[in-house]
Amino acid sequence: MTDALKTFLTDLDLDIRAQGDWGQVADYIPELGRIDPAQFGIAVALPGGGMVSAGQARQRFSIQSVSKVFSLACVLGRIGEQIWTRVGREPSGQRFDSILALEHENGRPRNPFINAGALVTTDELLTGRAPKETLAEILGFLRAAAEDDDIHIDKAVARSEAATGHRNAALAHYLKSCDNLRNPPEITLGTYVHQCAIEMTCEQLARAGRVIAQLPGAPRMLTPLKARRISALMMMCGHYDGSGDFAFRVGLPAKSGVGGGILLIAPGQASIAIWSPGLDGYGNSRMGSHAAERLAHHMGWSVFG
Ligand code: GLN
Repeated sequence: MTDALKTFLTDLDLDIRAQGDWGQVADYIPELGRIDPAQFGIAVALPGGGMVSAGQARQRFSIQSVSKVFSLACVLGRIGEQIWTRVGREPSGQRFDSILALEHENGRPRNPFINAGALVTTDELLTGRAPKETLAEILGFLRAAAEDDDIHIDKAVARSEAATGHRNAALAHYLKSCDNLRNPPEITLGTYVHQCAIEMTCEQLARAGRVIAQLPGAPRMLTPLKARRISALMMMCGHYDGSGDFAFRVGLPAKSGVGGGILLIAPGQASIAIWSPGLDGYGNSRMGSHAAERLAHHMGWSVFG
């Protein structure tokens, strides 16, 4: 199976490069705005430790909102179900950085994957810990899951987002005004932008995702129930207001980031990381979504049978 998969991924990489319909990079974070959109990598981690990849699968990229999956995993490990008093688990139907629903819903964000919800998750992780220790916890989770210590934060990206992230600052202050932020907004925001600035390769991210896919041979860091719940949230909320379309096209739980990364989970079968930095109108990787659709159909992977 790995030889056939390797051939498929190599052909997919060539096709995508020939198509050249890359989308726009996320220039609202200036440091990400300088990246060439015409890039693509894909890595598939399989049960038992196998890894098949193609394109720029060993190039580091900014994981951005894909980090929200792992901060949620840390919070669930720490306080479990209590997190749901502070954040919901419904799709938002709105942009990732929208403030609209927050006022209607008294400062309880719809889910942990929109920015407002991720700010709350990070704020919860900061309880009793300094930002440095909180970031070490998230990095530690990723390193242990990927079985690779060479995973770091790109400080230039964090600084770049901190300098221009006025929408996130507005969200954090609004949460604070509703009593749903425990720390000073600057502290939660500073921690959040550093978490988003973690860089990984597709191969590292695919390996980290094995703990959610519950692949045989992966480190046992999540109970099956937690992994199922994280996957359910990824399916419903992982692509923001594009989540329905992604589920319709791909049929697998996934989480996107504005760095162009997608973590895709085929429960029990594979953990897949895809990177292409050009985005579609929802802020999701354009060619990454296309590749996810092609791979899922080719392999017959779907949670819908
Ligand atoms: N750091 C980014 C932001 O807050 C993450 C958003 C994303 O990846 N969708 O805007």
